Amino acid sequence: MHPVFTVVIPAFNEEEVIMESYRRLTAVMKGTGESYELLFVDDGSKDKTAFLLGEAAEKDKNVKCIRFSRNFGHMAAITAGLDCARGDAIMIIDADLQDPPEVFPEMIAKWREGYDVVYGQRSERKGETAFKKLTANIFYRFIRSMTDVDMPVDTGEFRLIDRKVCEAIKKMREKSRYIRGLVSWVGFRQTPVSYIREKRFAGQTKYPLTKMISFAMDAITTFSYKPLKAASTLGFSISMLSFFYLIVVLCQRLFFSNTTISGWASMIAIVTFSQGIVLMVLGLMGEYIGRIFDEIKDRPIYLIQEFINEDEDK
Ligand code: UDP
Ligand code: MG
Repeated sequence: MHPVFTVVIPAFNEEEVIMESYRRLTAVMKGTGESYELLFVDDGSKDKTAFLLGEAAEKDKNVKCIRFSRNFGHMAAITAGLDCARGDAIMIIDADLQDPPEVFPEMIAKWREGYDVVYGQRSERKGETAFKKLTANIFYRFIRSMTDVDMPVDTGEFRLIDRKVCEAIKKMREKSRYIRGLVSWVGFRQTPVSYIREKRFAGQTKYPLTKMISFAMDAITTFSYKPLKAASTLGFSISMLSFFYLIVVLCQRLFFSNTTISGWASMIAIVTFSQGIVLMVLGLMGEYIGRIFDEIKDRPIYLIQEFINEDEDK
């Protein structure tokens, strides 16, 4: 028997919160009166997360747990959850209780009205650093302006999707995965519900600055060519400027020959500036090429070590 709801919960080193998430999710899901599965994806945790989930799964058959062979990242964990989810509707939620599970009934109500994607939109973020809020704010608006896909701002992975949306996402096996973008890309009927993003129940963020940057680069490069277009526009503009400057320099040489020898400072400025731009554009191309390389190697997005309480009737 397939459950009506699957809740996908990626977890990486969340021993301090995982049991509390389990309790709160169970309370909310029992309240729906429908069958459900809590599909935890342990993303190669080094702490007791996997052990605690194993214990919970032993007592409660609604708990399922996929254990990765190592840490593959947040997006890979959600991908595994979607691949193995069996519900008619699938909810995605972080393990740290920043997204309140109590919003689920509202999402379910919208789903019953006929919406295929009900995404949580943050009206406020509590307990996060000013830096995180600022960068997140800029990032959502920037990515929205960079792509033709209609991506709502201030929206994370916290959402409910219908089975048909899940099947569409499952077809997209790209390696650099910006899942909220993929969900926007598929279309169907989408609607927001607004909620207040709480502070982490316990523990530290698993997204240090380096991961945030590579996540942002994944999002931009997989949804937009605009940086490449901007690079060629920049190159073209600089060539034009250089051409006009060349004429100026030639005139100086031909008509005011005594002035050409000075200008060491401007020479250095121009050389270092243009070299900086060349290297930057090369790096930008490298970002795209590296991702193409990842695609053609076609390695799996994740590897499962163990699947606790996996259903036989698949
Ligand atoms: N996470 C994961 N793998 C990782 C990093 C994070 O599965 O490599 C999970 C983490 O356990 C949490 C969710 O992704 O459930 C969001 O991470 P976090 O709360 O640390 O990010 P933040 O809310 O600070 O952006
Ligand atoms: Mg969090």
